[in-house]
Amino acid sequence: MIALLLLSLSGCGAGPFPLQEAQIRKDTEYQCDVIGVRPAGTDKEKETCDWLEDRLEQMGFSYTAGTLSRSGFEGYPGVYSENLMAVCGVDAEAPIWCVTAHYDSIETSPGARDNASAVAILLEVARDLVTWQDELGAEVRIVFLGSEENGYHGSRAYLEGLSPKELERHQGVINMDISAASAGEGQLVCCTLGGRTDTGYQEGNFLEPLDNAVSQAVGAACRALYETEMPVVHGGESDHVTFHQWGLDSANVCWRVVEDGLPVLPPEYHGEDDIPQTIDYETACMTGRCVLWALKELAGK
Ligand SMILES: [Zn+2]
Repeated sequence: MIALLLLSLSGCGAGPFPLQEAQIRKDTEYQCDVIGVRPAGTDKEKETCDWLEDRLEQMGFSYTAGTLSRSGFEGYPGVYSENLMAVCGVDAEAPIWCVTAHYDSIETSPGARDNASAVAILLEVARDLVTWQDELGAEVRIVFLGSEENGYHGSRAYLEGLSPKELERHQGVINMDISAASAGEGQLVCCTLGGRTDTGYQEGNFLEPLDNAVSQAVGAACRALYETEMPVVHGGESDHVTFHQWGLDSANVCWRVVEDGLPVLPPEYHGEDDIPQTIDYETACMTGRCVLWALKELAGK
């Protein structure tokens, strides 16, 4: 109750990293209601990528300045998709952190929670981040990934496309998938598959999930902004799995519903009722602000 009270008091616009709740709603609705379902390899997935490209160009990211790039790949055999990346604090020698959200959906769901709202949050993160990128001591890559739903192909293509030097510079990822929730229910959690201990990077397990640099930073963000804990949960089911397999600190910042004391996927997951009209966009702001706060912690000078 305390967390919900604080959330309603602070909203999307008060305090550090104010986000535009109405814009997140509008962008979620655009993907679900105007574009429609966006399965990997379809014209609808490409249309979403075109729309994201326009939005990022409006924010000042550009191909000519080297802050915007779009790369195609074959994911599931015979299925072609694209990743779209906007970069803040471009520096070929600096550490790299990235923030990701997949923009494809399954065929049978509008995909508002999974994952249009996270895409909308990531646009807001980009809009905010670009205004303080001079304060970055690292390169922050905002990556909209294609082809997640049929096997995390976008994240694999992104990682396979890194040069050895880029891989050396690469620190980790904050992934967003199902990063908004219905009103009055839900728990913001941080899913990891492992983390750093005194003896190096280790696998986590279901009962004892491990913190890593990313989960620690978003957890600190949640405490600082909302005076509430963001539990670390052992969990996969999205692109952060691929980054984890590459040995990078990774976490999915997402909303779950609590059943019998355990955080589980929301009932709308992959359903026809995963629609924009049933999302509480303050939960989306909460995710986005925690991501921005964590980025400042991880990638600030
Ligand atoms: Zn998803």
